[in-house]
Amino acid sequence: MNQRTVIPIVKNPAALESDGVGCHAGKEQLEAAARAAGKAGVLDRYAADYPKGPHDQPQSMCPAFGSLRVGLRMRRTATILSGSACCVYGLTFTSHFYGARRSVGYVPFNSETLVTGKLFEDIRDAVHEQANPDSYDAIVVINLCVPTASGVPLQILPKEINGVRVIGIDVPGFGVPTHAEAKDVLSAAMLKYARSEIVAGPVAAPRSGVSDKPTVTLLGEMFPADPMIIGGMLEMLGLAAGPTVPTREWRELYAALDCAAVAAIHPFYTASLREFEAAGRGSVGSAPVGHDGTEAWLQSIGDACNVDQRMIDAAKNRFLPAIKGALSATRIDGRITLSGYEGSELLVGRLLVESGADLRYVGTACPQTAASEADRAWLEAKGVQVQYRASLEQDIAAVNEYKPDLAIGTTPVVQAAKQMSLPSLYFTNLISARPLMGVAGAGSLATVINAAIKNRTRMDDMKAFFGDAGDGDRAGVWEDKPVERPEFRVETRRRLEKAAKKRKAEEMI
Ligand code: SF4
Repeated sequence: MNQRTVIPIVKNPAALESDGVGCHAGKEQLEAAARAAGKAGVLDRYAADYPKGPHDQPQSMCPAFGSLRVGLRMRRTATILSGSACCVYGLTFTSHFYGARRSVGYVPFNSETLVTGKLFEDIRDAVHEQANPDSYDAIVVINLCVPTASGVPLQILPKEINGVRVIGIDVPGFGVPTHAEAKDVLSAAMLKYARSEIVAGPVAAPRSGVSDKPTVTLLGEMFPADPMIIGGMLEMLGLAAGPTVPTREWRELYAALDCAAVAAIHPFYTASLREFEAAGRGSVGSAPVGHDGTEAWLQSIGDACNVDQRMIDAAKNRFLPAIKGALSATRIDGRITLSGYEGSELLVGRLLVESGADLRYVGTACPQTAASEADRAWLEAKGVQVQYRASLEQDIAAVNEYKPDLAIGTTPVVQAAKQMSLPSLYFTNLISARPLMGVAGAGSLATVINAAIKNRTRMDDMKAFFGDAGDGDRAGVWEDKPVERPEFRVETRRRLEKAAKKRKAEEMI
C-alpha cells in the first residue's frame, strides 16, 4: 500500500490565473504568494545575494536557463523542470539551440495537482523513477515561477535515492534576476551538498586525477582555452589550475572545494563564494586580462596562496612583456560601446582599452560585487562609464549618446545599432567565443573588431539602398502596396486624448 502523504500546499490563485505571468506581469502577486507559501527564506536570500537595480525583470532569456544549462552540461546528471508548459517549451528549445544533446525532464501540472499538492507527489515519483545509480550521480529539480509561487516544497525531497543525489532548487524569474545568477544558484547548491559529503567522510577523486600542486579553482564558464592559459601562468607560481565551477562532473566539486584559493573570474557567483568561504577558502577577483589585469592578478593570486614574491616577479617578467607585445601588435582603432549579460563584460572592456580602443561604456546585466571592484575602478579611471544591472534602455541610450564606430551587445542592442547603420557584434556569440586571458587573449579581439568597424561603409550603402523600406508601419509582409491611412491615426489619437481626459476627470472626483 502506498504510504506516501500528500503535502499540503498553500493555495495561490494568482499563480493560476495565467501561465508565464512571471515574465510579463503579476510579479508582485507571485512574490507575495511565494512568501505566503513558505518561500520567504529563499527569496530573502536571493534578494541579498542578487541585489536588483533598474534591471530587476528578465530582459533577456528566462533566468532558469542558467541553472538548466549548468545541469545539462554535467556528466551523469539528470535535470527535471517543474513549471508552466510554455516556460518549459521555451527553456528546452533554448537548451537544444545551444546544443544540449540531452533530454530535459518535465513534470507537468494542472490547477488541481498544483493546489492539492499532487504535483509534489508527481515530482517525487519522477525522481524515484530516474534515480538509477548506473546512469546518474545526481538529479536536479528546478521549480520555475508558478510552482515556486505555489510553494512546491522541493526542499523536502529525499536528499538521496539509491546513491543518486537529489537537488531541488527554486529559480523564479521574480527572485533571480538573470540567467547568469541562476548558474550560481545551482552551482552553490551542488557545492553545499558536496561540502556536506566531504565533512561526512572520504570522497572520490575526479576522473582526471588530483594535482600534486596546490590548485586554484576557477569560477565562471570560460572559452575552453582560457583555463589552460591560466594553468600555464599558475605553473610559474608553483600552482595548478583546479576545476572550473560550474563543473562538468560531480566529483570535480570535491576537488574544487579542496583548493588553495578561488579565482572569481566571473564576479556574480555570490552564493558559490559563500560555500568556498565556509570551506575556509579565500577568493581573488578580476582575471589575468591584458597587461595591467595580469600583473594585478598574478600578485593577488600569489599573495592569496602564500607564494614567494620572487616567484611572482619571475612570472610577471615572463608573461607581461609578451602580453604587451601582443597588445601593441594588434591595435584596435575606433570608438566602442559594450554591453552583455555574461559577467565578463568588464574584463573584455579592459582588454579593449589596452588594445587602444576608445571605449566609452560598459553595461552588464550582473550586479556590482566585490569581485569586479578592481575592474570597475580601473575602467572608470580610464574614463569608461560602467553600468551594473544595465537595462536595455540604458545600453541603447549609450549607443545613442556615444555614437560608436562599433556597438558590442546583446541581440536587441545589436538590432538597434543596425537600424542606426552602425557596425555591431553580438557579445555572446562573437566575443565570449574567444580566449581573453594572458598572451592569447591580448591579441584575440582585434581582428574581429577591426573587420566589423571597417563594415561601416557597407552599412551606409545598405541603408541608402533600402531607404525607409521595412521601417515603422512598413514593417511586415504585405500582399499589396501598403496604403497610408492618416485619417485612422487622427481618429485613434482623438480617442486616446478623450480617454485620458476622462481618466483625469475621474481622478479629480
Ligand atoms: S519560469 Fe521563466 S519563462 Fe516562465 S514565467 Fe518565470 S521567468 Fe518567465
